[in-house]
Amino acid sequence: MSKHLTKRADDYSKWYNELVVKADLAENSAVRGCMVIKPYGFAIWEKMQAELDRMFKETGHENAYFPLFVPKSLFEAEEKNAEGFAKECAVVTHYRLQNDPDNPGKLRVDPEAKLEEELVVRPTSEAIIWNTYKGWIQSYRDLPLLINQWANVVRWEMRTRLFLRTAEFLWQEGHTAHATKAEAITESRQMQDVYATFAENFMAMPVVKGVKSDSERFAGADETYTIEALMQDGKALQAGTSHFLGQNFAKAFDVKFTSKEGKKEYVWATSWGVSTRLIGGLIMTHSDDLGLVLPPKLAPIQVVIVPIYKGEEQLDAISEKMNVIVKELRSKGISVKFDTRDTYRPGAKFAEYELKGVPVRIAVGNRDLENGTLEIARRDTLEKQIVAQDDTVSFIENLLVEIQDNLFNKAIAFRKEHTTVVDDFKEFKSAIKNKGGFVSAHWDGTEETEDRIKEYTKATIRCIPNDAKEEVGVCVLTGKPSSRRVLFAKAY
Ligand code: AMP
Repeated sequence: MSKHLTKRADDYSKWYNELVVKADLAENSAVRGCMVIKPYGFAIWEKMQAELDRMFKETGHENAYFPLFVPKSLFEAEEKNAEGFAKECAVVTHYRLQNDPDNPGKLRVDPEAKLEEELVVRPTSEAIIWNTYKGWIQSYRDLPLLINQWANVVRWEMRTRLFLRTAEFLWQEGHTAHATKAEAITESRQMQDVYATFAENFMAMPVVKGVKSDSERFAGADETYTIEALMQDGKALQAGTSHFLGQNFAKAFDVKFTSKEGKKEYVWATSWGVSTRLIGGLIMTHSDDLGLVLPPKLAPIQVVIVPIYKGEEQLDAISEKMNVIVKELRSKGISVKFDTRDTYRPGAKFAEYELKGVPVRIAVGNRDLENGTLEIARRDTLEKQIVAQDDTVSFIENLLVEIQDNLFNKAIAFRKEHTTVVDDFKEFKSAIKNKGGFVSAHWDGTEETEDRIKEYTKATIRCIPNDAKEEVGVCVLTGKPSSRRVLFAKAY
């Protein structure tokens, strides 16, 4: 692989794949469709996890852990969910290997060790969790039950892409149980809001909140609430989903509670998840032809200091000054790396941190020591500025906020520029083909029309936005009446 990244304009998807690998985020593994998340990529995930976990706990949820395997009979219980995921399920059939008598040195499945009941590797955990909830919920006093699990799941995806779509991925899945329908809907909408807040305030990634159409709804859900982001190549990304599951799982697993009035009733459910896909979204929202651009709030290293020196004496003098600044920055909760490696030249270090998207770089040399200054470069705009050493900490505190805001504003402006309102199908096709992005159009509400539009343009309904206004119109394809616009886009 060459040192330089492919340019986004030349081949966006090649740029993405190269960037993930060169920035040391992840790599493909020996298992088809499964990735190795490297320390730098995992550090971003940990930052996301920490913040989301805090938000989940603030909204009353607790973490628990359920098994990786789901007995097939349980998996089958909620029929729609089972049917929806069946094609993507990995299944364990045996529990032992043995030496293969026909192939010395090789192992084979022990035919004697066939499982009595096959085990599905969870593609999602509603089944195993609702089977467990049956034992936990008896009365209205046991509700609401607000549980989250951090876990891995497996979906045997045919077309995989690092982070965006992998066969095994890391995620969190919330599974809640409620006494009333209204409360469960409020919960699923609340979690959509939590996801949107996280995406916008931490990832600096604007999202549209909306509801999925029937064909894109989660298998087994009555309603799927989604957050949809727009990537730089004009494709949409479903960044997170929150489902109102009605009483479907309660009925499948016979989970009833005694109400205050003493009546036996089925429990209402929600589930909600975001995954390591968010890292793909983060990359594709902000990064450029030089490499990653990370929002300060999720950057594993927020500030890097590169000393420019000849000989140990100069390095010692620089270090003495910088160690004070490092300490002060850290005391403000800012993560700093002082890169004193003498195995790389400053230019190589600059390129490395640019590639890795470190928001702020400080360069400091001998001359700076004499002048009491240093050079501060920001990754998002690549602007450099000479700053007095004494002002460094407050300057950087402000700069990190400014970078975070700038990234969000840039992404919002991009989305605005790439959202087209259209009223006929010619415009629709042209917008999808030539411009990409979101296309806001009237739709007659039928799955058939949605399918035909997909067939003609590859665009799908990303969502019916929560804030879509009632508006009299006609479907762009069929001319049938429509009461509000929906958002279409080609999607990852
Ligand atoms: P779901 O349970 O299907 O609603 O999935 C929850 C979230 O996980 C989705 O909104 C996606 O953001 C993410 N997701 C789904 N499939 C994959 C996959 N194969 N790889 C990574 N993330 C995924």
